[in-house]
Amino acid sequence: MLKVTKFGGSSMADAGQYRKVRDIILADPSRKVVIVSAAGKRDKRDHKITDLLYLCHAHTQYGVDCTQVFEMITSRYLGIRDELGLTLDLESEFDALKKQLDNKSISQDALVSRGEYFSAKLMAAYLGYRFVDAADWVRFKLDGTVDQDISYPALVGQMSPQGIVIPGFYGRMPDGNIRTFSRGGSDITGALAAAALDADMYENWTDVSGILMADPRIVENPQPIPEVTYDELRELSYSGAQVLHEGTIFPVREKNIPVNILNTNAPNEPGTIIREDFEVDSDPHRFITGITGKKDFSIISMSKRGMSNEVGTLRKMLSVIERYNISVDYVPNGIDNVSVVLPTDALQPYQYAILAEIEKEVRPDSLSVHDEIAVVAAVGRKMAFRPGISGKIFAALGEAGINIRMINQGPDELNIIFGVDNRDFATAIRVLYNSFVK
Ligand code: ASP
Repeated sequence: MLKVTKFGGSSMADAGQYRKVRDIILADPSRKVVIVSAAGKRDKRDHKITDLLYLCHAHTQYGVDCTQVFEMITSRYLGIRDELGLTLDLESEFDALKKQLDNKSISQDALVSRGEYFSAKLMAAYLGYRFVDAADWVRFKLDGTVDQDISYPALVGQMSPQGIVIPGFYGRMPDGNIRTFSRGGSDITGALAAAALDADMYENWTDVSGILMADPRIVENPQPIPEVTYDELRELSYSGAQVLHEGTIFPVREKNIPVNILNTNAPNEPGTIIREDFEVDSDPHRFITGITGKKDFSIISMSKRGMSNEVGTLRKMLSVIERYNISVDYVPNGIDNVSVVLPTDALQPYQYAILAEIEKEVRPDSLSVHDEIAVVAAVGRKMAFRPGISGKIFAALGEAGINIRMINQGPDELNIIFGVDNRDFATAIRVLYNSFVK
Protein backbone atom coordinates (compact mmCIF):
# COMPACT_ATOMS: atom_id res chain seq x y z
CA MET A 1 0.00 0.00 0.00
CA LEU A 2 1.41 3.39 -1.00
CA LYS A 3 -0.18 6.78 -0.43
CA VAL A 4 1.21 9.88 -2.08
CA THR A 5 0.44 12.93 0.05
CA LYS A 6 0.48 16.55 -1.03
CA PHE A 7 0.35 19.42 1.45
CA GLY A 8 -0.73 22.88 0.31
CA GLY A 9 0.64 26.26 1.38
CA SER A 10 -1.49 26.69 4.48
CA SER A 11 -0.30 23.27 5.75
CA MET A 12 3.27 24.56 5.46
CA ALA A 13 2.73 28.07 6.81
CA ASP A 14 4.60 27.77 10.12
CA ALA A 15 6.26 25.36 12.54
CA GLY A 16 2.92 24.46 14.12
CA GLN A 17 1.63 23.32 10.73
CA TYR A 18 4.82 21.29 10.12
CA ARG A 19 4.10 19.45 13.37
CA LYS A 20 0.56 18.65 12.21
CA VAL A 21 1.93 17.36 8.92
CA ARG A 22 4.39 15.13 10.71
CA ASP A 23 1.66 13.69 12.93
CA ILE A 24 -0.39 12.91 9.83
CA ILE A 25 2.54 11.22 8.09
CA LEU A 26 3.48 9.18 11.15
CA ALA A 27 -0.12 8.06 11.69
CA ASP A 28 -0.04 5.92 8.54
CA PRO A 29 3.05 3.97 7.46
CA SER A 30 1.83 3.93 3.84
CA ARG A 31 2.39 7.70 3.60
CA LYS A 32 5.86 7.42 2.16
CA VAL A 33 5.82 10.16 -0.48
CA VAL A 34 5.24 13.79 0.46
CA ILE A 35 4.87 16.74 -1.94
CA VAL A 36 4.87 20.22 -0.46
CA SER A 37 3.92 23.75 -1.49
CA ALA A 38 5.79 26.87 -0.48
CA ALA A 39 4.81 28.35 2.88
CA GLY A 40 1.38 29.98 2.56
CA LYS A 41 -0.45 32.55 4.65
CA ARG A 42 -0.54 32.18 8.42
CA ASP A 43 -3.57 34.46 8.59
CA LYS A 44 -5.63 36.59 6.23
CA ARG A 45 -3.22 39.53 6.27
CA ASP A 46 -0.09 37.45 5.75
CA HIS A 47 1.68 36.86 2.41
CA LYS A 48 2.34 33.67 0.50
CA ILE A 49 6.04 33.05 -0.04
CA THR A 50 5.32 32.44 -3.74
CA ASP A 51 3.80 35.93 -4.06
CA LEU A 52 6.79 37.46 -2.30
CA LEU A 53 9.17 35.68 -4.66
CA TYR A 54 7.30 37.02 -7.70
CA LEU A 55 7.44 40.45 -6.10
CA CYS A 56 11.17 40.14 -5.53
CA HIS A 57 11.76 39.25 -9.15
CA ALA A 58 9.64 42.18 -10.35
CA HIS A 59 11.65 44.53 -8.08
CA THR A 60 14.98 43.51 -9.54
CA GLN A 61 13.59 43.67 -13.10
CA TYR A 62 12.87 47.35 -12.50
CA GLY A 63 16.19 47.89 -10.77
CA VAL A 64 14.58 48.32 -7.34
CA ASP A 65 16.31 46.82 -4.34
CA CYS A 66 14.41 43.83 -2.93
CA THR A 67 16.47 43.19 0.18
CA GLN A 68 13.51 43.82 2.48
CA VAL A 69 11.16 41.47 0.68
CA PHE A 70 13.90 38.88 0.44
CA GLU A 71 14.38 39.06 4.19
CA MET A 72 10.69 38.43 4.77
CA ILE A 73 11.16 35.22 2.80
CA THR A 74 14.33 34.01 4.46
CA SER A 75 13.13 34.82 7.95
CA ARG A 76 9.98 32.73 7.42
CA TYR A 77 12.05 29.66 6.63
CA LEU A 78 14.71 30.30 9.25
CA GLY A 79 11.97 30.78 11.84
CA ILE A 80 10.40 27.42 10.97
CA ARG A 81 13.80 25.72 11.06
CA ASP A 82 14.76 27.13 14.43
CA GLU A 83 11.40 26.49 16.04
CA LEU A 84 11.52 22.86 14.94
CA GLY A 85 15.06 22.52 16.29
CA LEU A 86 16.54 21.60 12.91
CA THR A 87 20.16 22.35 12.06
CA LEU A 88 20.00 22.57 8.28
CA ASP A 89 22.30 25.21 6.76
CA LEU A 90 19.93 27.41 4.77
CA GLU A 91 21.97 30.60 5.14
CA SER A 92 24.55 29.76 2.49
CA GLU A 93 21.80 28.85 -0.01
CA PHE A 94 20.01 32.13 0.72
CA ASP A 95 23.26 34.08 0.22
CA ALA A 96 23.92 32.42 -3.12
CA LEU A 97 20.36 33.11 -4.20
CA LYS A 98 20.56 36.78 -3.22
CA LYS A 99 23.73 37.16 -5.28
CA GLN A 100 22.02 35.67 -8.32
CA LEU A 101 19.13 38.05 -7.78
CA ASP A 102 21.37 41.06 -7.45
CA ASN A 103 23.21 40.35 -10.66
CA LYS A 104 19.96 39.38 -12.42
CA SER A 105 21.24 35.95 -13.34
CA ILE A 106 18.16 34.04 -12.20
CA SER A 107 14.95 33.58 -14.18
CA GLN A 108 11.55 34.27 -12.67
CA ASP A 109 10.60 30.59 -12.69
CA ALA A 110 13.85 29.50 -11.07
CA LEU A 111 13.50 32.08 -8.32
CA VAL A 112 9.84 31.38 -7.61
CA SER A 113 10.48 27.62 -7.46
CA ARG A 114 12.67 28.18 -4.38
CA GLY A 115 9.56 28.55 -2.21
CA GLU A 116 8.70 24.89 -2.71
CA TYR A 117 12.37 23.92 -2.64
CA PHE A 118 13.04 25.30 0.86
CA SER A 119 9.73 23.94 2.18
CA ALA A 120 10.71 20.47 0.99
CA LYS A 121 14.25 20.72 2.37
CA LEU A 122 12.87 21.56 5.80
CA MET A 123 10.12 18.96 5.73
CA ALA A 124 12.53 16.23 4.62
CA ALA A 125 14.86 17.04 7.50
CA TYR A 126 11.97 17.16 9.94
CA LEU A 127 10.50 13.81 8.86
CA GLY A 128 13.83 12.08 8.35
CA TYR A 129 12.75 11.38 4.74
CA ARG A 130 15.00 11.78 1.71
CA PHE A 131 14.80 15.07 -0.23
CA VAL A 132 14.16 14.42 -3.94
CA ASP A 133 14.39 17.52 -6.11
CA ALA A 134 11.53 17.92 -8.61
CA ALA A 135 14.14 19.17 -11.10
CA ASP A 136 15.65 15.69 -11.04
CA TRP A 137 12.55 13.94 -12.34
CA VAL A 138 9.76 16.27 -13.55
CA ARG A 139 10.74 16.87 -17.17
CA PHE A 140 8.91 19.18 -19.54
CA LYS A 141 8.81 18.84 -23.30
CA LEU A 142 9.55 21.90 -25.41
CA ASP A 143 5.82 22.63 -25.71
CA GLY A 144 5.56 22.91 -21.91
CA THR A 145 3.71 19.65 -21.32
CA VAL A 146 5.19 17.05 -19.00
CA ASP A 147 7.17 14.24 -20.57
CA GLN A 148 5.72 11.32 -18.64
CA ASP A 149 7.94 8.76 -20.38
CA ILE A 150 11.05 10.35 -18.94
CA SER A 151 9.60 11.69 -15.68
CA TYR A 152 7.87 8.59 -14.34
CA PRO A 153 10.81 6.17 -14.48
CA ALA A 154 13.09 8.93 -13.18
CA LEU A 155 11.02 9.20 -10.01
CA VAL A 156 10.83 5.42 -9.60
CA GLY A 157 14.63 5.44 -9.62
CA GLN A 158 14.71 8.04 -6.80
CA MET A 159 12.25 6.26 -4.51
CA SER A 160 13.59 5.29 -1.12
CA PRO A 161 12.07 2.91 1.46
CA GLN A 162 12.70 5.49 4.15
CA GLY A 163 10.27 7.88 2.40
CA ILE A 164 10.79 10.94 0.21
CA VAL A 165 9.82 14.62 0.19
CA ILE A 166 9.45 16.45 -3.14
CA PRO A 167 8.97 20.17 -3.77
CA GLY A 168 5.85 20.80 -5.88
CA PHE A 169 5.23 23.33 -8.64
CA TYR A 170 8.28 22.95 -10.91
CA GLY A 171 10.41 20.79 -13.13
CA ARG A 172 13.09 21.09 -15.76
CA MET A 173 12.99 21.98 -19.46
CA PRO A 174 15.03 19.98 -22.00
CA ASP A 175 17.70 22.72 -21.91
CA GLY A 176 18.05 22.28 -18.16
CA ASN A 177 16.22 25.45 -17.11
CA ILE A 178 13.71 25.40 -14.30
CA ARG A 179 10.10 25.87 -15.31
CA THR A 180 7.08 26.23 -13.02
CA PHE A 181 3.54 25.06 -13.59
CA SER A 182 0.73 27.61 -13.43
CA ARG A 183 -0.27 28.86 -9.98
CA GLY A 184 -1.47 26.14 -7.65
CA GLY A 185 0.63 23.70 -9.65
CA SER A 186 1.91 21.62 -6.75
CA ASP A 187 -1.31 19.63 -7.16
CA ILE A 188 0.03 18.54 -10.54
CA THR A 189 3.37 17.48 -9.09
CA GLY A 190 1.54 15.39 -6.51
CA ALA A 191 -0.64 13.77 -9.15
CA LEU A 192 2.41 13.04 -11.32
CA ALA A 193 4.21 11.42 -8.39
CA ALA A 194 1.18 9.28 -7.57
CA ALA A 195 0.89 8.17 -11.19
CA ALA A 196 4.63 7.53 -11.55
CA LEU A 197 4.69 5.31 -8.47
CA ASP A 198 1.32 3.63 -9.16
CA ALA A 199 0.11 4.74 -5.75
CA ASP A 200 -3.06 3.33 -4.22
CA MET A 201 -4.26 6.77 -3.18
CA TYR A 202 -3.39 10.42 -3.82
CA GLU A 203 -4.10 12.45 -0.69
CA ASN A 204 -4.39 16.18 -1.21
CA TRP A 205 -4.18 17.93 2.17
CA THR A 206 -5.64 21.44 2.38
CA ASP A 207 -7.32 23.65 4.97
CA VAL A 208 -10.92 22.59 4.29
CA SER A 209 -12.50 19.23 5.03
CA GLY A 210 -13.00 18.36 1.39
CA ILE A 211 -14.82 20.00 -1.48
CA LEU A 212 -17.84 21.81 -0.16
CA MET A 213 -21.34 21.42 -1.59
CA ALA A 214 -21.69 25.15 -2.02
CA ASP A 215 -19.62 28.31 -1.67
CA PRO A 216 -19.18 29.00 2.07
CA ARG A 217 -19.37 32.73 1.36
CA ILE A 218 -22.97 32.16 0.27
CA VAL A 219 -24.18 29.18 2.30
CA GLU A 220 -23.36 29.04 5.97
CA ASN A 221 -21.28 25.98 6.86
CA PRO A 222 -21.95 23.93 3.74
CA GLN A 223 -21.41 20.19 4.04
CA PRO A 224 -18.44 18.63 2.31
CA ILE A 225 -19.10 16.36 -0.66
CA PRO A 226 -18.20 12.83 0.44
CA GLU A 227 -17.83 11.40 -3.08
CA VAL A 228 -17.53 13.06 -6.46
CA THR A 229 -16.71 11.78 -9.94
CA TYR A 230 -14.25 13.47 -12.28
CA ASP A 231 -17.07 14.47 -14.60
CA GLU A 232 -18.97 16.10 -11.77
CA LEU A 233 -15.83 17.85 -10.64
CA ARG A 234 -15.40 19.27 -14.10
CA GLU A 235 -18.97 20.60 -14.05
CA LEU A 236 -18.48 22.06 -10.60
CA SER A 237 -15.25 23.86 -11.46
CA TYR A 238 -16.48 25.02 -14.87
CA SER A 239 -19.49 26.62 -13.28
CA GLY A 240 -17.43 28.49 -10.76
CA ALA A 241 -16.75 26.35 -7.70
CA GLN A 242 -13.32 26.95 -6.21
CA VAL A 243 -12.24 23.35 -6.13
CA LEU A 244 -9.29 21.35 -7.18
CA HIS A 245 -9.42 21.62 -10.93
CA GLU A 246 -10.14 18.30 -12.60
CA GLY A 247 -7.52 19.18 -15.23
CA THR A 248 -4.72 19.45 -12.68
CA ILE A 249 -5.06 15.85 -11.57
CA PHE A 250 -5.25 14.20 -14.99
CA PRO A 251 -2.20 11.98 -14.28
CA VAL A 252 -4.05 10.14 -11.51
CA ARG A 253 -7.24 9.97 -13.52
CA GLU A 254 -5.34 8.27 -16.31
CA LYS A 255 -4.24 5.58 -13.89
CA ASN A 256 -7.52 5.35 -12.04
CA ILE A 257 -5.97 6.31 -8.69
CA PRO A 258 -8.53 7.76 -6.27
CA VAL A 259 -7.93 11.23 -4.83
CA ASN A 260 -8.81 12.14 -1.26
CA ILE A 261 -9.09 15.83 -0.34
CA LEU A 262 -8.36 16.20 3.36
CA ASN A 263 -7.91 18.87 6.03
CA THR A 264 -4.56 19.18 7.82
CA ASN A 265 -6.31 21.01 10.64
CA ALA A 266 -8.97 18.30 11.08
CA PRO A 267 -7.22 15.13 9.96
CA ASN A 268 -9.87 12.72 11.22
CA GLU A 269 -12.60 14.04 8.94
CA PRO A 270 -13.17 11.85 5.88
CA GLY A 271 -12.94 14.68 3.32
CA THR A 272 -13.88 14.14 -0.31
CA ILE A 273 -13.04 11.15 -2.48
CA ILE A 274 -12.73 11.71 -6.23
CA ARG A 275 -12.99 8.73 -8.56
CA GLU A 276 -14.05 7.87 -12.08
CA ASP A 277 -17.06 5.97 -10.73
CA PHE A 278 -18.60 4.81 -7.48
CA GLU A 279 -19.94 1.30 -7.52
CA VAL A 280 -21.87 1.44 -4.28
CA ASP A 281 -24.01 4.41 -3.45
CA SER A 282 -22.96 5.38 0.05
CA ASP A 283 -25.75 7.93 0.43
CA PRO A 284 -28.86 6.97 -1.57
CA HIS A 285 -30.84 9.89 -0.21
CA ARG A 286 -28.60 12.51 -1.72
CA PHE A 287 -29.25 13.36 -5.37
CA ILE A 288 -27.35 16.57 -5.76
CA THR A 289 -23.58 16.52 -5.41
CA GLY A 290 -22.99 20.25 -5.40
CA ILE A 291 -24.49 23.61 -6.23
CA THR A 292 -22.43 26.28 -7.88
CA GLY A 293 -22.65 29.15 -10.32
CA LYS A 294 -21.24 32.35 -11.73
CA LYS A 295 -22.51 35.87 -12.13
CA ASP A 296 -22.27 38.38 -14.95
CA PHE A 297 -23.50 36.68 -18.07
CA SER A 298 -25.31 38.30 -20.96
CA ILE A 299 -28.10 36.77 -23.02
CA ILE A 300 -28.40 37.74 -26.68
CA SER A 301 -31.99 36.94 -27.64
CA MET A 302 -33.09 36.79 -31.22
CA SER A 303 -36.48 35.96 -32.70
CA LYS A 304 -37.52 35.51 -36.27
CA ARG A 305 -40.90 34.32 -37.49
CA GLY A 306 -40.63 31.13 -39.49
CA MET A 307 -37.13 30.46 -38.24
CA SER A 308 -38.08 26.89 -37.33
CA ASN A 309 -38.55 26.15 -41.04
CA GLU A 310 -35.47 27.98 -42.15
CA VAL A 311 -32.09 26.35 -42.49
CA GLY A 312 -28.91 27.96 -41.16
CA THR A 313 -30.21 30.78 -38.93
CA LEU A 314 -28.58 29.43 -35.81
CA ARG A 315 -25.32 28.79 -37.61
CA LYS A 316 -25.26 32.34 -38.99
CA MET A 317 -25.82 33.81 -35.55
CA LEU A 318 -23.16 31.63 -33.95
CA SER A 319 -20.62 32.28 -36.67
CA VAL A 320 -20.85 36.03 -36.07
CA ILE A 321 -19.94 35.39 -32.44
CA GLU A 322 -17.23 32.96 -33.47
CA ARG A 323 -15.61 35.63 -35.62
CA TYR A 324 -15.03 37.61 -32.43
CA ASN A 325 -13.45 34.58 -30.82
CA ILE A 326 -15.99 34.47 -28.00
CA SER A 327 -16.85 31.13 -26.50
CA VAL A 328 -20.58 30.55 -26.03
CA ASP A 329 -21.77 28.88 -22.84
CA TYR A 330 -25.40 27.94 -23.50
CA VAL A 331 -27.84 28.17 -26.37
CA PRO A 332 -31.41 27.74 -25.10
CA ASN A 333 -34.03 28.06 -27.83
CA GLY A 334 -37.71 28.15 -28.70
CA ILE A 335 -39.50 27.54 -31.98
CA ASP A 336 -38.90 30.90 -33.56
CA ASN A 337 -36.33 32.30 -31.19
CA VAL A 338 -32.97 31.49 -29.78
CA SER A 339 -30.72 32.94 -27.09
CA VAL A 340 -27.03 32.75 -26.66
CA VAL A 341 -25.58 32.96 -23.16
CA LEU A 342 -22.02 34.22 -22.80
CA PRO A 343 -19.86 36.07 -20.27
CA THR A 344 -20.57 39.81 -20.28
CA ASP A 345 -16.91 40.79 -20.12
CA ALA A 346 -16.21 38.82 -23.30
CA LEU A 347 -19.19 40.27 -25.15
CA GLN A 348 -19.03 43.89 -24.08
CA PRO A 349 -16.13 45.18 -26.19
CA TYR A 350 -17.78 43.87 -29.38
CA GLN A 351 -21.43 44.00 -28.43
CA TYR A 352 -22.61 46.58 -31.00
CA ALA A 353 -20.50 45.16 -33.79
CA ILE A 354 -21.88 41.69 -33.11
CA LEU A 355 -25.48 42.90 -32.98
CA ALA A 356 -25.01 44.83 -36.22
CA GLU A 357 -23.64 41.79 -37.99
CA ILE A 358 -26.43 39.55 -36.73
CA GLU A 359 -28.96 42.15 -37.96
CA LYS A 360 -27.35 42.15 -41.34
CA GLU A 361 -26.86 38.44 -41.78
CA VAL A 362 -29.92 36.97 -40.06
CA ARG A 363 -32.49 39.78 -40.47
CA PRO A 364 -34.31 38.93 -37.22
CA ASP A 365 -37.65 40.37 -36.12
CA SER A 366 -36.17 41.26 -32.77
CA LEU A 367 -32.75 41.26 -31.27
CA SER A 368 -31.80 42.28 -27.76
CA VAL A 369 -29.23 41.82 -25.01
CA HIS A 370 -29.94 41.30 -21.31
CA ASP A 371 -27.08 41.74 -18.88
CA GLU A 372 -26.75 40.99 -15.19
CA ILE A 373 -27.59 37.34 -15.55
CA ALA A 374 -26.21 34.69 -13.19
CA VAL A 375 -25.95 31.04 -14.06
CA VAL A 376 -26.61 28.50 -11.32
CA ALA A 377 -25.80 24.82 -11.74
CA ALA A 378 -27.06 21.90 -9.70
CA VAL A 379 -24.61 19.09 -10.37
CA GLY A 380 -25.14 15.42 -9.58
CA ARG A 381 -24.53 12.10 -11.28
CA LYS A 382 -27.52 10.68 -9.46
CA MET A 383 -29.93 13.13 -11.05
CA ALA A 384 -29.71 11.29 -14.34
CA PHE A 385 -32.86 9.42 -15.30
CA ARG A 386 -34.50 10.23 -11.99
CA PRO A 387 -37.83 12.02 -12.35
CA GLY A 388 -38.78 14.83 -10.04
CA ILE A 389 -35.46 16.52 -9.38
CA SER A 390 -35.96 19.43 -11.75
CA GLY A 391 -39.54 19.72 -10.53
CA LYS A 392 -38.28 20.11 -7.00
CA ILE A 393 -35.66 22.65 -8.05
CA PHE A 394 -38.11 24.87 -9.91
CA ALA A 395 -40.78 24.56 -7.23
CA ALA A 396 -38.31 25.68 -4.58
CA LEU A 397 -37.17 28.65 -6.66
CA GLY A 398 -40.76 29.57 -7.48
CA GLU A 399 -41.74 29.56 -3.84
CA ALA A 400 -38.83 31.87 -3.09
CA GLY A 401 -40.10 34.25 -5.76
CA ILE A 402 -37.07 33.84 -8.00
CA ASN A 403 -37.70 34.31 -11.68
CA ILE A 404 -35.89 31.85 -13.93
CA ARG A 405 -34.57 33.45 -17.10
CA MET A 406 -33.14 30.37 -18.78
CA ILE A 407 -33.11 26.60 -18.29
CA ASN A 408 -30.62 24.15 -19.66
CA GLN A 409 -29.85 20.52 -19.02
CA GLY A 410 -26.79 18.80 -20.39
CA PRO A 411 -27.53 15.67 -22.45
CA ASP A 412 -25.71 13.51 -19.90
CA GLU A 413 -28.15 14.74 -17.22
CA LEU A 414 -25.22 15.50 -14.97
CA ASN A 415 -26.44 19.02 -14.33
CA ILE A 416 -29.42 21.28 -14.39
CA ILE A 417 -28.45 24.82 -15.21
CA PHE A 418 -30.60 27.89 -14.99
CA GLY A 419 -30.18 31.61 -15.36
CA VAL A 420 -31.48 34.12 -12.84
CA ASP A 421 -30.93 37.83 -12.32
CA ASN A 422 -27.59 38.61 -10.72
CA ARG A 423 -29.37 39.96 -7.65
CA ASP A 424 -31.10 36.59 -7.10
CA PHE A 425 -27.87 34.60 -7.39
CA ALA A 426 -27.07 34.04 -3.72
CA THR A 427 -30.71 33.44 -2.79
CA ALA A 428 -31.10 30.85 -5.54
CA ILE A 429 -28.08 28.92 -4.29
CA ARG A 430 -29.28 29.07 -0.69
CA VAL A 431 -32.79 27.99 -1.61
CA LEU A 432 -31.48 24.96 -3.50
CA TYR A 433 -29.05 24.04 -0.77
CA ASN A 434 -31.73 24.25 1.88
CA SER A 435 -34.27 22.23 -0.05
CA PHE A 436 -31.89 19.46 -1.08
CA VAL A 437 -29.39 19.23 1.72
CA LYS A 438 -30.96 20.39 4.93
N1 ASP B 1 3.19 27.86 -4.40
C1 ASP B 1 2.55 27.83 -5.67
C2 ASP B 1 1.41 28.83 -5.70
O1 ASP B 1 1.18 29.54 -4.75
C3 ASP B 1 2.12 26.47 -6.08
C4 ASP B 1 1.21 25.74 -5.13
O2 ASP B 1 1.14 26.07 -3.97
O3 ASP B 1 0.53 24.82 -5.56
O4 ASP B 1 0.74 28.94 -6.69
